[in-house]
Amino acid sequence: MCVMSETFGFQGDLPKVAGAAVEIIRNLTAAGHAALLAGGCVRDLLRGSPPKDYDVATDATPDRVCQLFRATRKVGAQFGVVLVRKRRRWIEVATFRSDGPYLDGRHPARVTFSDARRDALRRDFTVNGMFLDPLKGLVIDYVDGRADLEAGLIRCIGEPSERLEEDHLRLLRAVRFAARLGFDVEPATFAATQANAPKLVKVAAERVREELEKMLTHAARRRAFELMEQAGLLPYLWEGAAWQPEQLAAARSLLERLGAEAPFEPAFAALVADRRPQEIHAICRALACSNDQREATVWLVRHQADLDEPDAIPLAGLKRLMAHGSFTALRTLAEARYQVLPDGRERSAALQRRLSSIAPEAVQPPPFITGDDLAQRGVEPGPIYKEILDELYTRQLDETVRSRPAALQALKTLLRARGFA
Ligand code: ATP
Ligand code: MG
Repeated sequence: MCVMSETFGFQGDLPKVAGAAVEIIRNLTAAGHAALLAGGCVRDLLRGSPPKDYDVATDATPDRVCQLFRATRKVGAQFGVVLVRKRRRWIEVATFRSDGPYLDGRHPARVTFSDARRDALRRDFTVNGMFLDPLKGLVIDYVDGRADLEAGLIRCIGEPSERLEEDHLRLLRAVRFAARLGFDVEPATFAATQANAPKLVKVAAERVREELEKMLTHAARRRAFELMEQAGLLPYLWEGAAWQPEQLAAARSLLERLGAEAPFEPAFAALVADRRPQEIHAICRALACSNDQREATVWLVRHQADLDEPDAIPLAGLKRLMAHGSFTALRTLAEARYQVLPDGRERSAALQRRLSSIAPEAVQPPPFITGDDLAQRGVEPGPIYKEILDELYTRQLDETVRSRPAALQALKTLLRARGFA
């Protein structure tokens, strides 16, 4: 039998931001409770990378936690989670628990409050299952997380198939943590991920989208995509997902080349880059994206090639793109495309040159001519309004018409050509 050492000394220093959680742990300990840093923050501290947040786990019940601290908010009372306000931060304090049976592939039917060991066992992956006692400087490791952290492995705690069947979101979490940490998924966990991949469709669209957002906004997005592909998860990301070889290739190529800091918008567009607007609409709906997100994605995919030849873009067209709320994302996408086009560096420099030659106030100036001008000249409302106004605005943006008198002159010519006196 494998005997693992369950505690070991924590050598590092806790960052200052950990102070609020440590103070809560000190208060709970003084009141006679067990209280520890838990989960992701312990993993990150052991790796020497700054944790996003510090979660506390304790044997105090939620009611007891509320009694002991002045400012508290019960957020997931059924799961034993209370937020405690300390040093102007809200810290998550969760009661040690064991999860009852999972009925819906996502949530336990009930939880029972328990102890640290059992709380470790209900967590998803070994590297996420450790505790740190900051007062004693000890790591408490019931799940052999340290070994996997050192080996760079994402391994389910317990029997992988069982754990992935309980909560199907773990299918994506395994991939996300592996990509983000630069780890491998341990073979038995990976095999179970492949075997259970079809169950991903049962997970609420919002949860899947949130996981995708986290994967796609991380520099390791290409690796996350590759792992999803190898694990067979891509066909189950949304209802009816299908991937043609060229769609896989387009996503892979763009995801790999996006800048490390690229936000969600261009990264999501990269994921669906080789698809028609109608299909993108359907995907965004299936993933419960917001309307803004959907419109932005469709626009980005539609215009992704528009910046490929920076010197050839008509000035008005370039300004229209620049005026769009997703232009920064479009540029990010363009920079990724340049890397596979010949003379990519020159294209990038040319775009930079052109953009900086356009004054900000020239991007979307108020139009010289409006519908009122047409009405005053007795033009009946109809499609002709849009036609004429678009044409005149294009000339204004192109800077071939530079003043209102010049625009009025151009209007006169246009109206005459259409048979108006
Ligand atoms: P991140 O830095 O991305 O927040 P994290 O490890 O803190 O990573 P969270 O999703 O914030 O991840 O969850 C906190 C901890 O709760 C995890 O480390 C893990 O121990 C546990 N946990 C979260 N989600 C699950 C789940 N679906 N199944 C089992 N345990 C989970
Ligand atoms: Mg977290």
